[in-house]
Amino acid sequence: MRVSAGVRSDVGRVRRRNEDAYLVQDPVYAVADGMGGHRGGDVASTMSLEALEAADIAGRGAPALTAAIRTANRAVLERGEADRELSGMGTTITAVLVQGDRAHLAHVGDSRAYLFRDGALRQLTEDHTMVQEMVRRGQLTPAQADNHPQRSIITRALGAEGDLDVDELAVDLRPGDRLLLCSDGLSGMVSDAAIAGALTEAADPQAACDRLVEMANEAGGDDNITAVVIEALRADVVGAVEGDGADRAGAVEGDGADRAGVDRAEAGPDGAHHLEPVVAAEASDDHRAPHRRRRLVVALVVLALLLAGAYAGVRAYVGRQWYVGVSDGKVAVFNGVPVSFAGVHLSHVETPTDLPASQAEALPLWHGLSDGISARSKDDAIAIVEQVRTDLCSTSNVGCAGGTVTPGPTPTPGPTLTATGTAPATLSPSRTGASP
Ligand code: MG
Repeated sequence: MRVSAGVRSDVGRVRRRNEDAYLVQDPVYAVADGMGGHRGGDVASTMSLEALEAADIAGRGAPALTAAIRTANRAVLERGEADRELSGMGTTITAVLVQGDRAHLAHVGDSRAYLFRDGALRQLTEDHTMVQEMVRRGQLTPAQADNHPQRSIITRALGAEGDLDVDELAVDLRPGDRLLLCSDGLSGMVSDAAIAGALTEAADPQAACDRLVEMANEAGGDDNITAVVIEALRADVVGAVEGDGADRAGAVEGDGADRAGVDRAEAGPDGAHHLEPVVAAEASDDHRAPHRRRRLVVALVVLALLLAGAYAGVRAYVGRQWYVGVSDGKVAVFNGVPVSFAGVHLSHVETPTDLPASQAEALPLWHGLSDGISARSKDDAIAIVEQVRTDLCSTSNVGCAGGTVTPGPTPTPGPTLTATGTAPATLSPSRTGASP
C-alpha cells in the first residue's frame, strides 16, 4: 500500500533544546524522545534513529525492525558507558515499518503510536511508565494516570540495560487510515479527543503534523513535540501522487527544524474498497507475558536505571518536587515525591528540623504530614516548616527556640540530575525490596 507522510518536530515553549528525533525514510518511520543531561538526550535519540536508518529493515522485514532497535540500545548503552558526559542517557523509540498493507510497530518507552480510522482514534502502544504500571495493577484509573504528576517517569528505555524488551504489534492498514507517531510532548499536552479532531480536519499528513504541534504549543509546549503522520493512500489517490517523491528519504534531525511532508495528496472521494478488513493489533509474546514477570522486569529495569546513575534518564521531574514530611520522627523538607516504586524512595531529606512530628500532627492543620504536604518550591516548603514551628510554639511552646531552616544547596533542576559517576542525591535510594 502506498503511503504519504508528514512530520514536524518542535522544541516547544519551555525547553532550550530539542531532544526528540524522527526518521521518515519510507517505509520506515520513527520517533525517539531522548533524555539525559547535557547533550545526552540529543545523542541518544539521534543515535538510535541512525541505527534504524543504517539497518536494511525494508529488505528484511519486521524482525529487522526489532533487531535494529536492540542494536541501537546496545550502541546507546556502550556510548553512555564510554563517555562520562553521556552517562545515563537514554531514549524512547516508537517505530513503524510499512510492508504491503501491514504496518509493523516496535515500541519502547512513552512515545506513542495511534491509529486514526473512520474518525476514531485508538492508541496502539502501551506506555512504559510508572503510572501505566500502576493502572495495570489497579492502583490508578486511566484518567488519574493522565493527570498524575509522575506520569513522565518511564520504566523502559534504550540505553538502560543490555537486554531490552521491545513491544511489537501489527496493524493491517485500510485506505484512508492515518498512523500517528508522537513524543509525549504532544500526547501529554493534547487530549486524545483534540488529536482526533486535528486528524479529522487536516487535509493531509503534513497539515495534521503542523496542527498537532501548534496545539501542543498552545497548551503550553512544556516539552519537545514531535509528530509523524503516515496516511494509507486510497487507490484513487495513489495514481495522483505516484512518482511525486513518496519514497524520499527523511533525515534524522534533532534541532527542532521543521520538515516538509514527504508528499501531499488531496483526499479524494472514498473509494470504499476496504481491501483488508482485519484490524488486529497483535500482541507480541512479550505482550502476553504474565503480569508477574512483567512487574519483575519493570522493577529490575527501574533499579538498573537507578543503579546506572540514570535517574535523569527516568526524567528530571522528581528533582523539581518538594514537600514537607516526616523523617525520624521530626518534620523535614524533602526533595522529590513522597512515593516509592519497586522499593525505591523517590525523595530524600533536604533539610531536617528539630520539630517533633507527632506533636505537629496533633494539630488539625498538619495532620497530613506523614503523607507529605506538597510545596511549590523549596522556599515554599521552608515557609510551611516555619508555619508548623509557629503553630507548635503558640500551642505547646515547642520549637520556639528553633531558628530559621537553613536551606541546603538547591539542586539544579532538569538534566543535571543525570548522574555522571556519582549517584544523584535524590535517589539515595533506601531499597527495601528487590535489591539485586
Ligand atoms: Mg518528551
